[in-house]
Amino acid sequence: MRIIEHVGEMQQQANVWRQEGKIIGLVPTMGYLHEGHLALVKAARSHADVVVVSIFVNPTQFGPGEDFTRYPRNMERDLQLLREAGADAVFLPTAAEIYPHGHETHVEVTRVTLPLCGKSRPSHFRGVTTVVTKLFNIVKPHAAVFGEKDFQQLVTIRRMVQDLNMDVEIVGHPIVREADGLAMSSRNVYLDETQRQTALRLQKSLAAAQALVDTGEKRAEVVLKRVKEVLNGGDDLRIDYAQLRHPQTLEETVLLEGPTLCALATFVGKTRLIDNRVLNVLAKPDVRCLAAS
Ligand code: AMP
Repeated sequence: MRIIEHVGEMQQQANVWRQEGKIIGLVPTMGYLHEGHLALVKAARSHADVVVVSIFVNPTQFGPGEDFTRYPRNMERDLQLLREAGADAVFLPTAAEIYPHGHETHVEVTRVTLPLCGKSRPSHFRGVTTVVTKLFNIVKPHAAVFGEKDFQQLVTIRRMVQDLNMDVEIVGHPIVREADGLAMSSRNVYLDETQRQTALRLQKSLAAAQALVDTGEKRAEVVLKRVKEVLNGGDDLRIDYAQLRHPQTLEETVLLEGPTLCALATFVGKTRLIDNRVLNVLAKPDVRCLAAS
């Protein structure tokens, strides 16, 4: 597995692969890898001949007072996991390599970044879209894999790629969960045992939303009331948002009439945790069928 730290070297290697006719797959990460990341690497492998994983804790996507400096890092372990997962190369730049002195260009997607995490973390998506654009220009991937765990990020990247005619296929990957349902996240390491139990309420509230929708409930306010009841059923959890939105446009849903994103962000202690589920919405039962049966 090649370890590449410099932009020029990565671009050169990408050119060589492209000249050889190889399909390049990219998995952008901030490291402290877990099974969720490794599932993305595996998915990239099925779309590409060479898989590049980038590890870069991107300062511009953290707001003031957020956890940039204490974000968990363990490079040796990450590299070992990536070797075992069969990655071909790891791109490991420093912040100065990505944002050299004088850097002043940013990429901004507007509408879909406004609600949800964009509201709570105003400069976050601008940091994400800028760094992802740079990674695309550096690694030159044909395909890039992103997790649905960061659903709004995935929607934003798809929007950016379409709007800016970027020649990269965006592959989404379902959320990978722990055995008890907690969505895997590098930030789970911040949780103590009690908080870890509290965090399970995110996934439970999403399951409760689906169960309610399965009974035929279509009113967003009723579904959200249920979600919040489950989230609030104990101490030490503060809801940042719990919303129902269209899974492509992220427009707010009033009545559930098709697949609907239920998106959550909470603070468990000081740790911000997000989770989501696209709710399956049953088609209206056909009254004539019911009458006939
Ligand atoms: P991060 O290192 O947290 O920036 O995540 C890097 C990529 O891994 C992003 O595309 C995330 O959406 C994805 N990811 C993180 N956790 C999970 C998970 N539990 N399941 C699926 N994808 C994930």
